Amino acid sequence: MSQAPKPPLEPITGLIHHPYRAPEGWDAVPPGVFKGSTVCFPDVAAMRARHWTQRGVYTYGLRGTPTTYTLEERLATLEGGTHCVLAPSGLAAIATVNQALLRTGDVLFLPANVYGPSRELARHELADWGISHRLYDPLQPQTLADALAAEPAQQADGRPRTRLVWLEAAGSVTMEFPDLTGLLAAARTHGAITALDNTWGAGLALRAFDLADDGQGGRCGVDISMHALTKYPSGGADVLMGSIVTRDEALHRRILATHGRLGLGVAANDVEAVLRGLPTVALRYHAQDAAARQLAQWLAGQPRVARVLHPALPDAPGHAHWATHCTAAAGIFSVLLDPALSAAQVDGFVDGLQLFRIGYSWGGPVSLAVPYDLRLMREDRRGLDGHLVRLCIGLEAVADLQADLARGLAALG
Ligand SMILES: *Cc1c(COP(=O)(O)O)cnc(C)c1O
Repeated sequence: MSQAPKPPLEPITGLIHHPYRAPEGWDAVPPGVFKGSTVCFPDVAAMRARHWTQRGVYTYGLRGTPTTYTLEERLATLEGGTHCVLAPSGLAAIATVNQALLRTGDVLFLPANVYGPSRELARHELADWGISHRLYDPLQPQTLADALAAEPAQQADGRPRTRLVWLEAAGSVTMEFPDLTGLLAAARTHGAITALDNTWGAGLALRAFDLADDGQGGRCGVDISMHALTKYPSGGADVLMGSIVTRDEALHRRILATHGRLGLGVAANDVEAVLRGLPTVALRYHAQDAAARQLAQWLAGQPRVARVLHPALPDAPGHAHWATHCTAAAGIFSVLLDPALSAAQVDGFVDGLQLFRIGYSWGGPVSLAVPYDLRLMREDRRGLDGHLVRLCIGLEAVADLQADLARGLAALG
């Protein structure tokens, strides 16, 4: 047991075997941060009785600590799920879901506006492992239904085939809000598993597990909600982490088993940073939403701005679906600048911004701008002519951000 060894001891031994006790009677607002690779068992029988796949049980630091369990519980609650697994980044969470569920011969279905690195994973590692992918139009559920019908649940040799449909609301960069109701119905009809990249919604804008009527008098949603905690939950632009939330014990167990076998863990200090950000996530999300909408509306009336792609604006692609499912929006949107401008002028506009920094990610305190070349990203560019610049809105005063953008646009002439 954790009895302090009896003296006399060499000083170095005393440092290691110090008589530490959990601080009974200590009660403070933030949860404690527990670190440890080794977890000590009181005796061999206890060691044999515990297995790492049990939650709430401690076997080894990689398998879960009081700190990681606390964050998992809070995220499951935030997203309306029951189980959660943490991964070292949002992309690692995506990869874990894919690897847990897909085998050679299985098929992945991705929206055309999917988060770019998710598609790269499908193009490279998954393709090398004999897992193919198909793209569908997130605004046309029939394209998903047709793609699913072309890849039936039974393979030619009679073996079952898993079909995993990723959804993203709103989609990356071009921000179309998908027809979630139609896509879920198509996936359900064809018996496919659904996973939502819920980074944009942050567990706040929409209810991932409660999105639509299930056709039997109840409600239904996605099977899996994945979330890049790097963005809003952290809020500090200082942590990389991802989460995978489910409502289904069996599905959770499959994901947890693969996650464990891959040796994916998160550091206690990073978990602490996310736990510190979580209590303010809703305040920050709604403040950044309000600021982004104000700037998006203002930008829509500016010369040299051909189009603003923000799902809460009435003319945005998928706006009606956003209005059906959402009560809020993330503070991120894109603008299409006048196609008559040269690419160099657009780069100059971004370079000339003073408060907007140039960089990836979003959800942090600093506003960011990134120009994207749609020709390299999308085969289907329907209605997306012009130079795209993505803006993510931080926590600065809106008037200062607007003045920065106004200066930049004025310089374009
Ligand atoms: C940032 C992001 C991810 C990946 O998160 P990382 O922690 O950066 O790996 C996944 N999906 C979306 C939509 C994102 O914006």
